[in-house]
Amino acid sequence: MAKIGFIGLGNMGGPMAKNLAKAGHALKVFDLAPAAVAALVEAGATKAASASDAAKDVEFVVTMLPAGEHVRSVYLGEGGLLSVAAKGTVFIDSSTIDVPSARETIAAAEKAGMMMIDAPVSGGVGGAEAGTLTFMAGGTVDAFEKAKPLLEIMGKNIFHAGAAGNGQVAKVCNNMILGISMIGVSEAFVLGEKLGLDAQTLFDISSTASGQCWSMTSYCPVPGPVPASPANRNYKPGFSAAMMLKDLRLAQDASKTARTPTPLGAQAAQLYALMEAAGEENLDFSGVIKLIRGEI
Ligand code: NAD
Repeated sequence: MAKIGFIGLGNMGGPMAKNLAKAGHALKVFDLAPAAVAALVEAGATKAASASDAAKDVEFVVTMLPAGEHVRSVYLGEGGLLSVAAKGTVFIDSSTIDVPSARETIAAAEKAGMMMIDAPVSGGVGGAEAGTLTFMAGGTVDAFEKAKPLLEIMGKNIFHAGAAGNGQVAKVCNNMILGISMIGVSEAFVLGEKLGLDAQTLFDISSTASGQCWSMTSYCPVPGPVPASPANRNYKPGFSAAMMLKDLRLAQDASKTARTPTPLGAQAAQLYALMEAAGEENLDFSGVIKLIRGEI
């Protein structure tokens, strides 16, 4: 049984922390939202008085926070996690954040005599609840190996993507593919529809031909062909357009830093930003088909 601090008990962090508690680990938890803490206490965790309190007298700390600014403010500076935790503590940041914040925080942790990996996830709330998330981790082999047994409780596919920050790089690159491919599939289905080709027929052909991709066969943006896709429940997420927009903006920031053009990534970000401007950012990201159809 390990002693674990867990900070950030939202839609993702809540169920991830519950799975660690269920596996018999001793959890000390903190969130700014008292209701989120209460739910974990009910699941057997101990309430910490603050984020830094959650990092005292523990072997591991997991953080699942909204963005880079939250991670920096929780870890760095006076009273931050790195100023109070014991040397040798292993930090796992599973938030999706910008690459420079991840690399800077991990460097600061190592300087303070601690270990840290960035380990963003894919798989959504369903994956967090079921303990089947995919983890993409960056950091030293040593830190990764120490963190792995905990990642294996919260997830199913665990990848070491290389040096510090590479987990975030893998995450933004993957989600840029996803955001772009969903728009491509949506455009094709709307064009087919307009030309008199029904969606099921296009699906039957394309899903076994060269247009096949995950956005079509696992998450089809039209109702019918893939019963589990959000299109069958009025685009209730799933993975919201707001979340997709966040990740595409991170990809755009990374593309500027790396001076590497990603023109389709930029265009995709603009289309999801139009969904946001129309007040539809809480639809699933596959609802981008409604924008293409002119329904938003
Ligand atoms: P969320 O907003 O539901 O949860 C974030 C939690 O962090 C909130 O409970 C908030 O109160 C807490 N928090 C914020 N600042 C804090 C602080 N200083 N100290 C303590 N707690 C603080 O978000 P989420 O959906 O759980 O997402 C968390 C991260 O996971 C994000 O980076 C997101 O991009 C990523 N992610 C989300 C999904 C998804 O489907 N929701 C999927 C993959 C990755």
